[in-house]
Amino acid sequence: MRLVLLGPPGAGKGTQASAIVKKYNIPHISTGDIFRANIKEGTELGKKAKEYMDKGLLVPDELVVSIVKDRLTKDDCTNGFLLDGFPRTVNQAEALDTELSSMGLKLNKVINIDADSKILIERAIGRRICKECGATYHIKFNPPKVEGKCDKENSPLFQRDDDVEETVATRINVYFEQTQPLIDYYQQKGLILNIDGTKPIDDIFNTIVEALEK
Ligand code: ADP
Ligand code: AMP
Repeated sequence: MRLVLLGPPGAGKGTQASAIVKKYNIPHISTGDIFRANIKEGTELGKKAKEYMDKGLLVPDELVVSIVKDRLTKDDCTNGFLLDGFPRTVNQAEALDTELSSMGLKLNKVINIDADSKILIERAIGRRICKECGATYHIKFNPPKVEGKCDKENSPLFQRDDDVEETVATRINVYFEQTQPLIDYYQQKGLILNIDGTKPIDDIFNTIVEALEK
C-alpha cells in the first residue's frame, strides 16, 4: 500500500497515520518528524529547516525532496509506505511521481483530510506530543489519562514550537497557497479520497480503511 496523507495543519494526518501504518505494517514517513529529529540532533539540515519552520513557512523543495527520495529506497518500503506532510507543493508532487516511476511504482491513494480553519487552529494549539514515542494528544479532544503524561510511556508531553496561534495561522495560509493545489493534481489522476476531518478519530479511521479495501 503506497499512500499519501494530504491536508492542512491540524487536520488529523499524524493521528490517522499512526493507526494506518499499524494496520498495514508500512513505515510512517513524516517530513515534519524528520526535520524535528534533525533539529533535536543539531544537524546542519535541522538548523536550516528550523529557520523556515519557526516562521510557519515551507522548507525549500530541494532540501525536502532529496530526503524523501533517499527514504523511499530503504528496505522497509518494499511493502509500501505512508507519506505524511509530503508532498506539499506541485514541484514536490512531480518529483515524487518521477522517483516512483523510476522505481516502477505508483501511489494507490491520496487521503485528503479536511476541516475548517477555526477547528484547525484549536486543534494545533491544543496538540501535545510525547517526548519518547511521539504519540499525539489534544488537551481537550484527545486528552491523556493523566494530564501532561503519555499513556504509554508516562513521559512528559510537549508543545511544538510552531503550534502557537500566529504561526499556525501562517501555516494554514501557506497550505491554501502552496499545498491545496495538490488536491486538483491528484484528483486528475483519480487518486483522491476525501475525508471529513471533523468526525471522531475512530470513525475517520474506519472510513479510510473501508475505502482502501473497496
Ligand atoms: P496533523 O498531523 O494533520 O497536523 P494531528 O494528527 O497532529 O494533525 O492532529 C492535530 C490535533 O488534533 C492533535 O492534538 C490531535 O490529537 C487532534 N485530533 C486529530 N484528529 C482529531 C479528530 N478527528 N477530532 C478531534 N481532535 C483530533
Ligand atoms: P508538519 O509536521 O507536517 O506539520 O510540518 C511542520 C513543518 O515542517 C512545516 O510547517 C514546514 O516548515 C516543514 N515541512 C514539513 N514537511 C514539509 C514539506 N514536504 N515541504 C516543505 N516543508 C515541510
